[in-house]
Amino acid sequence: MSLANTPDPEARKAVVRQDLGNVLHPIVQHKVLEQQQIVVTSAQNSTIVDADGTAYLDAMAGLWCVNIGYGRTELAAVAAEQMQQLAYYPHTAMNVPAAALAEKINGLLGGDNHIYFVNSGSEANEAGFKIARQYMKQEHPGEFRYKTITRYFSYHGTTLGTLAAGGMGERKTKFEPLSGDFIHVAQPYCYRCPFGLTYPSCALACVKNMETTILGEGPETVAEIIVEPIMSGVGVAVPPDEYLPEVEKLCRKYGLLLHVDEVINGFGRTGKMFGHQHWGISPDIISIAKGISSAYLPIAATVVKNHVFQSFYGDASDNRQVAQVNTYGGHPAAAAVALRNIEIMQEERLAERAAEMGAYLMDGLRGLMHHPWIGDVRGKGLLVGVELVLDRQTKEPVTSAHIQSVVDFCRNNGVIVGRSGGGRRYSNTITLCPPLVITRGEIDRIVEVLGQAVASLGRQLASAA
Ligand code: PMP
Repeated sequence: MSLANTPDPEARKAVVRQDLGNVLHPIVQHKVLEQQQIVVTSAQNSTIVDADGTAYLDAMAGLWCVNIGYGRTELAAVAAEQMQQLAYYPHTAMNVPAAALAEKINGLLGGDNHIYFVNSGSEANEAGFKIARQYMKQEHPGEFRYKTITRYFSYHGTTLGTLAAGGMGERKTKFEPLSGDFIHVAQPYCYRCPFGLTYPSCALACVKNMETTILGEGPETVAEIIVEPIMSGVGVAVPPDEYLPEVEKLCRKYGLLLHVDEVINGFGRTGKMFGHQHWGISPDIISIAKGISSAYLPIAATVVKNHVFQSFYGDASDNRQVAQVNTYGGHPAAAAVALRNIEIMQEERLAERAAEMGAYLMDGLRGLMHHPWIGDVRGKGLLVGVELVLDRQTKEPVTSAHIQSVVDFCRNNGVIVGRSGGGRRYSNTITLCPPLVITRGEIDRIVEVLGQAVASLGRQLASAA
């Protein structure tokens, strides 16, 4: 059954019945889905369309991923052509699109890397953890370096390993105990500094905390540090300029690998091709996903610097190959689509566009700060957070129900926005991460509707007082 173009209420009802009776949806409550009943059947640029014809401006690019926007039929043609030529072969041999994609990504990252293809951001991070451990075993056989230093309130994925690496308590408790090999340190979240300090007089207490932790654990037990350049899940926390270079220095000082999670930050999102490029650091391992194919097909990768690659390089008698396998890695159709997706980003200069449109979006949002419930507007490129508070002086956060009412208001008025997922704390930020092709007119609409939503929250708060 196709619901693509002409609204057909009966056909739509049948899909809703079929879905509610059969699909197990994660992360949302089924009773909420029963009420909302959004059936997305088509999409173009930054707009998704329900089977009943209702259009929504998608200010979250799906799940932070449709960077080049919806409806690029050219990518469908690339996939179809590749599937006719060679739909699949495992990465125990070479294939044409995977080789070309690896060369393209390597070129974007300075040319001294090798790329291991996987299928999701979680898998890319998980592979990075394992590569870091195996590398340390091979390069430092006398030591036992296996721990990962990570930050509280980070998000790195949904598998048991990446969940343990993540720092959002509420997402973890249902599955604990988790691996103890991930050691958490304070997050660089300046609006709510974990040390109660203010930048720059803080003298980067968060980096000092990281060093103290490394020393406390014993550097000879630590393999790597993982950081997302701009922490998205916690509500888009842009670190101070010295933060990432200082973290890199710690890695060099103590012989750790620097592992950067570019799953959201990557592929133009923050106004450069990769988030870490704002700070001139040189990671040893990079996890990429989402924007790599703008989610047209599932594909992700773990990028390793050549000195790491060299540790895995040997002949048939060697046992130093990357000791993991996945069925779909380097999938020819997904790789072909990802390659064309990146070419489109370059042809249309979408990273530069993200920088320009992001500045326009932030200007518009700062124009809403006459609403006293907006505590902070922050971001880089088209990765933006709007933190809502009950009191700008005390920074008391709005509740989870309040932030949800803003999300719901926006959706009911045709704009999809996100919310931070910090769990018990830090769930009070509206997140915006639209396709990089978003227009000024669409940004005006996002700002207008969000302004109305915040005003509505204000009326709600006033009437409850
Ligand atoms: N790292 C970060 C920073 C993410 O935001 C996400 C997903 N939102 C992941 C890793 C995991 O990616 P995936 O959902 O593709 O497994």
